Amino acid sequence: MLEELKKEVYEANMLLPKHDLVTFTWGNVSGIDREKGLFVIKPSGIDYDKLKPEDMVVVDLKGNKVEGDYNPSSDTATHVVLYNRFPNIGGVVHTHSPWATSWAQAGRGIPCYGTTHADYLYGEVPCVRNLTKEEIDEAYEENTGVLIADDFEAKSIDYEAMPAVLCKNHGPFTWGKDANEAVHNAVVLEEVAKMAARCEMINPQNNPAPQELQDKHYYRKHGENAYYGQPGQI
Ligand SMILES: [Zn+2]
Repeated sequence: MLEELKKEVYEANMLLPKHDLVTFTWGNVSGIDREKGLFVIKPSGIDYDKLKPEDMVVVDLKGNKVEGDYNPSSDTATHVVLYNRFPNIGGVVHTHSPWATSWAQAGRGIPCYGTTHADYLYGEVPCVRNLTKEEIDEAYEENTGVLIADDFEAKSIDYEAMPAVLCKNHGPFTWGKDANEAVHNAVVLEEVAKMAARCEMINPQNNPAPQELQDKHYYRKHGENAYYGQPGQI
């Protein structure tokens, strides 16, 4: 079942250690088949060097395991909510990549200090609040997804223009049109988080990049008037 998607999601998962975004088994990638309403996700707690495409777990949009020898990632319920609430995404990534996680642990969104950030992420990367004790006790992973989606809705943040979020005292989630693009955005987020931290170290009074510069860089790569690169590139 979904053999092609399993291979794609397996390869996307293997990009996390390749790009130094994960330590041990911390991190997971999923990818969805929207027509079938099923997604494929990494199994929980399996070392990356032992992972095989056939180990990937198939899950439905209610969070039920449909196929697989292993239990799905412990963060599966967060992925379920993001797929349900963000209908145009095709892949989700969660890591504890150190620079993005440092901002999350500091409880701060990442301001847009330059065009590397603006090329991929429109505006400040939001940092959502801690879950309450009740939310944690009731359904930690599901409520993490609900919090992210509610926060984007409440602040009118376009999830397609901002394919990344930080969860306070935890770490980042990113997404994209497929698993590969979601990983690409996780790599970009980590680089941007690193540069923003260094930028504040060099100049603690630094201001975000001018809005017109942010707009220019974002919209030359995204939307109907985009002209950067070649068609189909990310
Ligand atoms: Zn985590």
